[in-house]
Amino acid sequence: MRSLYDLEVDQWAELLDDEPTYRREQIWDGIHAQHRDIEDLTSLPKALRERLAAETPRGLELVTESVSDGGDTIKFLWELRDGSRIETVLMHYRERSTVCVSSQAGCAMACSFCATGQAGFTRHLSTGEIVEQVVRAQQRADLDSTSGQPRRVSNIVYMGMGEPLANFDSTLAAAHRIRDHLGIGARHQTISTVGIIPGIKRLAAEPLQVGLAVSLHAANNDLRNSLAPINKRYPLEDLMDACAEYIDATHRRLSFEWAMIEGVNDSQRDADELAHLARPLGAHVNLIPLNRTPGYPTSGSPASVIKDFVRRLEDQGVNVTVRDTRGSDIDAACGQLKTASVEMPTRRRVRD
Ligand code: SAH
Repeated sequence: MRSLYDLEVDQWAELLDDEPTYRREQIWDGIHAQHRDIEDLTSLPKALRERLAAETPRGLELVTESVSDGGDTIKFLWELRDGSRIETVLMHYRERSTVCVSSQAGCAMACSFCATGQAGFTRHLSTGEIVEQVVRAQQRADLDSTSGQPRRVSNIVYMGMGEPLANFDSTLAAAHRIRDHLGIGARHQTISTVGIIPGIKRLAAEPLQVGLAVSLHAANNDLRNSLAPINKRYPLEDLMDACAEYIDATHRRLSFEWAMIEGVNDSQRDADELAHLARPLGAHVNLIPLNRTPGYPTSGSPASVIKDFVRRLEDQGVNVTVRDTRGSDIDAACGQLKTASVEMPTRRRVRD
């Protein structure tokens, strides 16, 4: 059975064959721009609502919601219709609300320090499953308000579970639909990759103005091979060429993500190597103090080491920010998303 957000416009037309044509737009708009459930589209006749609710169920079933940072960080654990599980994180800031979406259930990239990588790959998500994460997070944000104003999701980062460029078509189609029908501009969406070169090249050729972040973590091949094994297939020299090509083609800002791992990649020499790669590309560096994961018993770098690292980069003309560790107490921070083995076994819902 197809789920609500897996239907494309022409499939809605088929499903609504015996209805007046304006219904298609009414429903499409209702479940996207207005982020409503079918049951709440009260402008539809009740019988139609009931039929559609039965024939096009939602694709994500909420298992748990965890809240931290005084209500500003909310992590959702969802069960998909085949029983796989994924997570999504909603983060409210003063000026914006960002949703961190998953692009795959699990991940095949096996980065040693990442909980999703430690758990392995289950499957790609469909476009609808990516889009629905944003809609459902927006529904939750509708309940949050600051000074009486409901919160509007303004930014999307493809930094949840999975490798978005390994699921290129669904991710790109989701980015388009989120722009066109949820009203979140491409410039407010950032795709993060471990460095899948063919994906970076394809993205460079796309007119969609999404941002690109490359998870670098090491600026020499030996260290990067050990942290992000995909580097053996797509080594740094080739990756940097692809990044240069991306910038030439798009003139968009590129950022490098770097998890600060104590004693592993946080020395002054590491900073010099990173500056050497970042500077010619004008890449922005985003440092992420390593978050703890069960399979990687190393700590994040201490604040003083991060400070020295920042200074060393800045001295060499590199733009750098340090990311806050939102939601680490609820395992919602970067690299902590995983769903296997930690949950109590649940009863499978019976599906037709
Ligand atoms: N596969 C994509 C999308 C995941 S994004 C990618 O690799 O970019 C998640 C970000 O968090 C990546 O930059 C990832 O390297 C980083 N990360 C993973 N594990 C982490 C950890 N334990 N602490 C801090 N950052 C981590």
